[in-house]
Amino acid sequence: MFESLSERLSGVFERLTSRGALTEDDVRTALREVRVALLEADVSLPVARDFVRRVQEKATGQAVTKSVTPGQQVVKIVHDELVAVLAGDGAEIGRLKIDNPPAPILMVGLQGSGKTTTTAKLAKRLKEVEHKRVLMASLDTNRPAAMEQLEILGRQIGVDTLPIVKGETAQAIARRAKQQALLGGYDVYMLDTAGRLHIDAELIQQAAEVRDIVSPRETLLVVDGLTGQVAVEVAEEFDDKIGITGVVMTRMDGDGRGGAALSMRAVTGKPIKFVGTGEKMDALEEFHPERIAGRILG
Ligand code: GDP
Repeated sequence: MFESLSERLSGVFERLTSRGALTEDDVRTALREVRVALLEADVSLPVARDFVRRVQEKATGQAVTKSVTPGQQVVKIVHDELVAVLAGDGAEIGRLKIDNPPAPILMVGLQGSGKTTTTAKLAKRLKEVEHKRVLMASLDTNRPAAMEQLEILGRQIGVDTLPIVKGETAQAIARRAKQQALLGGYDVYMLDTAGRLHIDAELIQQAAEVRDIVSPRETLLVVDGLTGQVAVEVAEEFDDKIGITGVVMTRMDGDGRGGAALSMRAVTGKPIKFVGTGEKMDALEEFHPERIAGRILG
């Protein structure tokens, strides 16, 4: 088990006697521990460094309140800064731009990230919470099983899927979905694009063409939260090549320590809108920055 940051810091501060205000030395000693804790939580090195530098500036010279120890005070400053980075302006967490029906939502991500499951979970949420009429379509023409999986999930949650036509290209399916969404009076149509094990030129090319056909209101990247730095690299590449509007991190029910979320936010600047917390259709939550901050601090 990891020693929690709060535990580490109380040890450090027992050896320090300063009272009144946090000195530069106190803060520096504490922040060495903070940096280790961030790295253990799978925050990338440049992000951890930059984060620690900012906390250093904020903390130095801050008065230590009588009711807390210097260690607790630093933990609080670190916590607040973590929440600030994770939340951004917070306005887009849990929200999707779905005005102007039918609003296209493009779902992208690597195979196995949880993209199809997340597409259905979001559709269910849009239907039940926002009372929207949703149409889903799978563009994964290489994997008939993935197309059928979306159809099965659709039946399970009571959301329509575009009928599967064998031999159609992803681009043709996207056009048909768009037309069906218009004719059928849907509020939202969600396109579950093909996933691959790795990002390759063909995958990107196809996603870009589909994007140009439907002009999505949201392009959501689904990443496996347990893959840490890999998830961040995947996000950078998808954002660079296709342009994403937000991220859904899956498998946050696992024992990942949440550091990837911090790197994700810091590196891509894109909001984490939702998190997946299980295999069931209602295991989708709005992203809660405080929970991740708590998890990183331990
Ligand atoms: P895709 O290849 O990206 O479309 O991935 P799938 O949607 O088929 O998901 C792959 C597996 O991950 C399935 O067994 C899902 O049930 C599972 N899965 C998806 N999201 C989550 C999640 O948030 N938590 C957990 N524990 N499992 C998930």
